[in-house]
Amino acid sequence: MKTVDLIVPCYNESEMIDLFYEKTAQVVSQIDGYSFTFIFVDDGSTDDTLKKIKALAAAHEHVKYISFSRNFKKEAAMYAGLKTSTGDRVAIIDADLQHPPELIEPMLKAIDEEGYDSCSARRVSREGEPKLRSAFARLFYKLINSMSEVEIVDGAVDFRMMTRQMVNAVLSLPEVQRFSKGIFCWVGFNTKWIEFKNIERVAGESRWSFWSLLRYAIDGITAFTTFPLRLATIFGTIVSLSAFIYLIAELIKTLIFGSTVSGYPSTIIIMLFIGGIIIMALGIIGEYLARMYMETKRRPIFITRDTNIEDLQNDK
Ligand code: UDP
Ligand code: MG
Repeated sequence: MKTVDLIVPCYNESEMIDLFYEKTAQVVSQIDGYSFTFIFVDDGSTDDTLKKIKALAAAHEHVKYISFSRNFKKEAAMYAGLKTSTGDRVAIIDADLQHPPELIEPMLKAIDEEGYDSCSARRVSREGEPKLRSAFARLFYKLINSMSEVEIVDGAVDFRMMTRQMVNAVLSLPEVQRFSKGIFCWVGFNTKWIEFKNIERVAGESRWSFWSLLRYAIDGITAFTTFPLRLATIFGTIVSLSAFIYLIAELIKTLIFGSTVSGYPSTIIIMLFIGGIIIMALGIIGEYLARMYMETKRRPIFITRDTNIEDLQNDK
């Protein structure tokens, strides 16, 4: 019998924990041939989330949990879940029931019967989402896909089933500032996409404000492309080139008509030229600096405060 770990990142989801568990446990109990474990990752919740999870863990042996010392954000929660998982198949699923647990069975089928390495869900409608937010989301996918090598699917959500082999590959990426949507694509493997309609939250509310989404988008772009830095190089080159063209034009004009205001054109040309060179140089330095900065801090991705998983307890 294959083992499946369900990783559930939770941040202030006290209203959702029981609902989520009841529904999901009921759905997975109908699936034959697999044994399921729930790994709840409490991302430093300030409400009763941890209490609810502990009550579930006390009642059901297949409920594990990790609780963070503070809110480390969803990326860290997903990483912690993947790192502690031991199952043959590993899935990440939201606690708010926006990811229908009914998809777990077709996802397992895609891997074990159709031979895929992972199966991920894609939202086909953004109903119930503010218009402005959908528009920005779309713009983000256009931007990141045109600038970077990874292809991030529009509407892809963090609801995904993976083989152990793929999880190990994801964990082998050592970066601290993680952008999972890009990482899942970067590691390769064959992914099947299952489409589903957007489901509104039953209770609680989305943790994402407009600004946190914008920051997430910038994180995604900087994690997978250095194109913005290259933009500085390109811009500097264009400025220098136009200065050069201006120089030639001024030279010809002076040769034919003679000099009018002496000193003015040469000042402008030199200013533009030097300015262009400086921006270009900054761009080149930035290319290296940004790469180094990202990698030097080497801080832990999460810090555990409480858990019922033995391996992690020994780490403390
Ligand atoms: N979440 C988390 N840490 C955070 C924010 C969110 O672990 O800092 C969890 C949250 O509890 C939920 C999932 O990530 O299970 C998705 O969050 P949310 O519903 O707020 O995002 P949305 O569905 O709007 O993208
Ligand atoms: Mg949600």
